[in-house]
Amino acid sequence: MSELAGYNAVITGGGRGIGAAAAVALANAGAKVSLASRNESQVVEIAAELRNQGHEAFAFRCDVTEPHQVRELALSAREAMGRIDILVNNAGTATSNPITRITHAEWQHIMAVNATGTFLCTQAVWDGMADRRWGRIVNVASVAGLSGGKYISAYTSAKHAVVGFTRAMAEEAVGSGITVNAVCPGYVDTPLTDETIARIVHHTGKSWQEALSSVLEQAGQPRLIRAAEVAKAIADFCHVGAHAPNGELLVLDGTESE
Ligand code: NAD
Repeated sequence: MSELAGYNAVITGGGRGIGAAAAVALANAGAKVSLASRNESQVVEIAAELRNQGHEAFAFRCDVTEPHQVRELALSAREAMGRIDILVNNAGTATSNPITRITHAEWQHIMAVNATGTFLCTQAVWDGMADRRWGRIVNVASVAGLSGGKYISAYTSAKHAVVGFTRAMAEEAVGSGITVNAVCPGYVDTPLTDETIARIVHHTGKSWQEALSSVLEQAGQPRLIRAAEVAKAIADFCHVGAHAPNGELLVLDGTESE
């Protein structure tokens, strides 16, 4: 499978979880990949693994909430790969707290990483894609971007912003050769979900399995989604053909056959 041979991708938050799986999927489809993360050692490790498998992969430290670091990332990735054809806005973070316990700093951080980071990275690659009249932008939103959930108002608001941004940019992209789509997964088997389960265990005294079961039940999910399933959906949105979707929100809720 080398549909993406000759195409270059930047994946934010590419050091673990869904981002790392997306980097593997895009590299396996033939793309050169640049992995960016606030945590440099994680992306260095994944990029080295990909290179060992014969792929072209680069790693960059970038906090997507910092405009100058995002500009640096775009410059460095262009220097390494030649140009940027695909952007996966995956970097994200979550907390859970009832409204009265959310601090201003927590609210701002959740909005900054999930929503502002998506805006900054998109802005940094847009002109290059528009000049070449080809680009694929995939935003990693969440089912929390489409409906409400208890104790996750900051995350839910930030992911609704990502969904709104996706819809608006898809309109702005019409006729430009760029497509903008989003994946909206439920709970995925990643370190981020592990952190959520650990918080529930800590606050409630439930066992890990009980906490996981309660989270899945509340979400109406039969199982955790695998990161590779989300990665496949991301890679599908990078389709090079003429009839690439634009403005689509793909929900993954674990009811799909594995
Ligand atoms: P994760 O915590 O396992 O990985 C997130 C990655 O993003 C890490 O490499 C981290 O270092 C990086 N990151 C965090 N803040 C950053 C910043 N400011 N700048 C650059 N990099 C940063 O998370 P994951 O579960 O793989 O989630 C990836 C994306 O998927 C997020 O946007 C998340 O909101 C979304 N998502 C996750 C789930 C889930 O259940 N895990 C469900 C729906 C959506």
